Amino acid sequence: MRSAGLAVVEAGRVLWWTVVLAVRFGLGRRDRVRAARLLRAYLLRMGPLYIKAGQVLGTQSGLLPRDAVEEFRTFFAELPPMRDRVLRRTLRRGLGRSPDEVFAAFDMRPVAAGSVAQVHRARLDNGETVAVKVVRAGVRGRLEASSTVLGALLSIVNVLPKVRGYDLPGHFRELRPLLTGQCDMAGEGARQQEVAANFRNHPFVRVPRVHEELSSRDVLVMDFVEGASGHLPDEAGLPPHELAARMQDAFYCMVYFHGVFHVDPHPGNLVFAPGGLLVFLDFGLVGRLSEDDRWNLASFYYACIRKEWTTAVRRFTRAFAVRPERLTGSAYEEELGRILRRHFEEETSRWSTLAFLDDAIRILGRHGSRITTAFSVLALSLLTGEGFIAKVDPDIDLWATTRRFTDRFAPYLNDELRDRLQHQMADTAPRSLALRKRAARRLVAPTHFDRFVLPSAFPLVVDRAYGSKLRDVDGNEYIDLGGGFGPHILGYAHPAVVAAIQDAAARGAVNAVGHPGEVRLAELIAEAFGPDHRVLLANSGTEAVQVALRIARAFTGRQRVAKFEGHYHGFSDQGLVSSWFRYRGDPRAPEPVGNSAGMQDAVVAETLVLQYGERGSLDRIAAHADELACVIVEPMPSALADYDAEFLRALSDVCGKAGILVVYDEVVTGFRVAYGGVQHIVGTVPDLTCLGKIIGGGLPAGAVTGRADVVDTARTSGDPFHDVDGRAFAGGTMSGNSVTCAAGTAVLEQLRAWPDTYPGLRERTSWLVADLAARAADCGVPCQVRGRDSIFSITFDHATPSLVRDRLAGLDVTATLALAYHMRGHGVFLPELHTLLLSAAHSDADLEQVSEAFGKSVREMASAGFFSISRERLTGERL
Ligand code: PMP
Repeated sequence: MRSAGLAVVEAGRVLWWTVVLAVRFGLGRRDRVRAARLLRAYLLRMGPLYIKAGQVLGTQSGLLPRDAVEEFRTFFAELPPMRDRVLRRTLRRGLGRSPDEVFAAFDMRPVAAGSVAQVHRARLDNGETVAVKVVRAGVRGRLEASSTVLGALLSIVNVLPKVRGYDLPGHFRELRPLLTGQCDMAGEGARQQEVAANFRNHPFVRVPRVHEELSSRDVLVMDFVEGASGHLPDEAGLPPHELAARMQDAFYCMVYFHGVFHVDPHPGNLVFAPGGLLVFLDFGLVGRLSEDDRWNLASFYYACIRKEWTTAVRRFTRAFAVRPERLTGSAYEEELGRILRRHFEEETSRWSTLAFLDDAIRILGRHGSRITTAFSVLALSLLTGEGFIAKVDPDIDLWATTRRFTDRFAPYLNDELRDRLQHQMADTAPRSLALRKRAARRLVAPTHFDRFVLPSAFPLVVDRAYGSKLRDVDGNEYIDLGGGFGPHILGYAHPAVVAAIQDAAARGAVNAVGHPGEVRLAELIAEAFGPDHRVLLANSGTEAVQVALRIARAFTGRQRVAKFEGHYHGFSDQGLVSSWFRYRGDPRAPEPVGNSAGMQDAVVAETLVLQYGERGSLDRIAAHADELACVIVEPMPSALADYDAEFLRALSDVCGKAGILVVYDEVVTGFRVAYGGVQHIVGTVPDLTCLGKIIGGGLPAGAVTGRADVVDTARTSGDPFHDVDGRAFAGGTMSGNSVTCAAGTAVLEQLRAWPDTYPGLRERTSWLVADLAARAADCGVPCQVRGRDSIFSITFDHATPSLVRDRLAGLDVTATLALAYHMRGHGVFLPELHTLLLSAAHSDADLEQVSEAFGKSVREMASAGFFSISRERLTGERL
């Protein structure tokens, strides 16, 4: 009733001001600037919702004349504060008690007053100074009423043929929750904490801590931040060009990496604190780009950087436009292509994301479309953000930093480095280069000449491998950190393994008939995993996973499989769902997405995709208990090189109660992190374990092991009529062949005989991880080195995200590739985009050489300008 009343009053106000505006416009000069000014004054009178809606719509430059847009861009509302009496009442309601009981001191004069809320300084009993943000009395009702009326108004305006194409009511429907959410301090506190978490460990970005226990819908209490806000940042102690670089880095991090960004980064919302720290304030409006938005954006930039304009136009349309089906004509494609060329090729020295969007939006408008709401919110953020950066440093080269974000999937190097490497290869590895050429004519993936995603520019072509070393066909020797993706835990050409293979081969490679070797290998595996375990042999990790999933379905009589985002389980349809390059949906409840053309849609759609380490995943498993045959997990995800023991235990509990099988994919970790697998370290017991790599001693191999009653689902009952329906069939001409079994057995016997191998590898990995991290820190390079138990990774990033998707989003592909090539120049081979592995053959001297090579490489890269924020800029202290 009350809200209906408010809406009526609001409609009256709108009507009144509309008439006033129309009369004033009618009486005066009728030019566009004046119209825009009047419109601005009108929106200001109408209140906060109109202001924001005006700003967002203002980014739709195709809709409003450019000068009107400029008018909107100068918007900034500084309003008189609430009266003391009203403030006290609001505080009491928000805090649940009198402010005198909560604060030792409270300054009634606000430090800032906006259209939705005002901010006061206060002191807690423990002496901490806090900022208290209080929602203006009555603003919530007004905001709701305004949005109802504005929605209605836009629907009326929408009948005009000229604006109908913009679908303003639809646009506003999407914007409405964002706009009305501004007056909910509980929501704002949550957004603030989300952004703070995204910047955890960041060297120079801070977000004030929220005092959740004191906050509510009306009041938000947070740490008070001292510093220069809204002014030129003398106190930051850094020259303007460095601060501007930091600002751009921070803004773009939010947009491109986190997908959660500040919509209003104007000078009042950014504090420059000592040590060059940037402190963001006010999370009333936070924009979001979904995983698909960022994927589309990245794919668009990728095409632009490669100057593939037709593809870029197509991808732009998919990423940014509503009703893309309207945008197919050649006129549209040519116009947009011209704009893209201008911004991405010709005028990069004057790069402005907003200027580019402005031009592109105008073209969309001309062809009956507009940008999506998510991107118009982004345009508003960039409008404020890039404008502010340019004020701090008018000479900044925005493009240079932009490329750090836009090029992140670009698998090529800058021209200078590429030329240098090409020359270097021509000098030192001419045969390798010639073979690369020959391979390109005939050979397609899966060999590593022609990797499927981001192929190698300079593949290594190996002639010999021994111990920890690889020698290429040109005679160059490298310390190997790839470990062939996993099998060579003892190093290459271990004498015991070579002898076993030679012996087996000399007796005739046997398959498809029984031989003692397969019994021996099965016994070794079973003994390592459990007294009642059975083993089934296959030819690869991919096959092992396929067999395990079939057994799980046959055993439970259920069809669906749950897996974790970012966990790779081989190249089968099921194994590739949401596996490593592409993700979709809410990070906490991801949606399944394929990672290859040609996958069966039904398999993708039926997969339940979970998030590792996230408690909500356990609830989702329970909610689907009746349908799930199993949950497959990499207990120590390769992409994170660490495990969450508590989560794994909870996973076992939930699945155990629901009769869902737990399948561990230990294809990488099996016999690598322990004699057994991660389960031996954590103390959990999965129903099935998939193995590969090490158990084949360098030859193709896979295995499934698990409790007898489960694995026996693949054993014949003796009744073929029953088996067809009741048992899981697993075959394979080469499964359990004599040469593979001999090689695998030799490796496992060595590992069993030398149990110190594992503590040794653990210790060396820890040393190397710490050493490399220290070397990167010495050079002031944003770099994370993580790992344990012979598995480690190096990424160029400030953050240590826990989700694989966030790690990929922040991955600096170009720098990662460049590191691989620099390291090769210093005698170390890194597989370019893969987890790194140590073997028992790596000596102390090898590790020293790796460490030195890394130090040199990182220094060379830093001086070549690979890392936009250089050493002296990374002096930020913790807040
Ligand atoms: N599971 C995991 C965890 C893997 O890392 C891999 C391959 N790297 C596989 C399964 C597939 O193994 P393969 O390549 O032997 O088919």
